Amino acid sequence: MLLATVLLNGFKSLVTSAMSSNKFNVVFVLGGPGAGKGTQCARIVAEYDFVHLSAGDLLRAEHQRENSKYGAIIDEYIKDGNIVPVAITCKLLEQAMQQSRSNKFLIDGFPRNQDNLDGWEKEMGDKTNILCVLFFDCPREVCVQRCLSRGAAGSGRADDNEKSLVKRLDTYMSCTMPIIEYYDKKNLVRKFDASPPADKIFAEVSKLFNSL
Ligand code: UDP
Ligand code: MG
Repeated sequence: MLLATVLLNGFKSLVTSAMSSNKFNVVFVLGGPGAGKGTQCARIVAEYDFVHLSAGDLLRAEHQRENSKYGAIIDEYIKDGNIVPVAITCKLLEQAMQQSRSNKFLIDGFPRNQDNLDGWEKEMGDKTNILCVLFFDCPREVCVQRCLSRGAAGSGRADDNEKSLVKRLDTYMSCTMPIIEYYDKKNLVRKFDASPPADKIFAEVSKLFNSL
């Protein structure tokens, strides 16, 4: 009887440790539009064993996919600088994570409002470990300048124009900042000044990833 209990407990702890190691490890990457999230993520994946998933890129790809039932709704939200309902974004993120062989992800541009956070915690909370949240802190004027130059240089994005940008910045300040504060209270936020050139920022980011 004692032996059976010991075996059972041993089995339970084996299962528990296997389950926790099966979880996806996630670094969220947040910051204003044009803060350089995508640029820093590209640098990180070139040197560290992470897969980059940009929520915005996944939404844009879904919008372009033939026969997507979400195409029209995604287009409308993005053009208006609003945040797409979490059911759509979370499903795309989970699909991309399942399809990848990795279990270490940089999730860029998500969660950006309370709806995103609630939806993520409900669907993915038990399947993921959040390692930390990178916060690229960028002055408003720099964000505007970068997005407008990106638009002028032919980013092809429906929202790299002055009108969408005003809304994106408002959405960022009113909806995303509270999410950053939420993670900051959990001591998960690592903040970087996003105004210097990309190389200089990456030198700081590397110090963090070397220690992860
Ligand atoms: N977006 C969204 N949910 C997300 C990520 C992006 O609804 O989780 C939409 C939103 O309309 C946002 C746009 O996609 O303004 C562009 O996001 P992206 O992160 O690509 O742009 P960035 O803010 O980095 O310039
Ligand atoms: Mg981006």
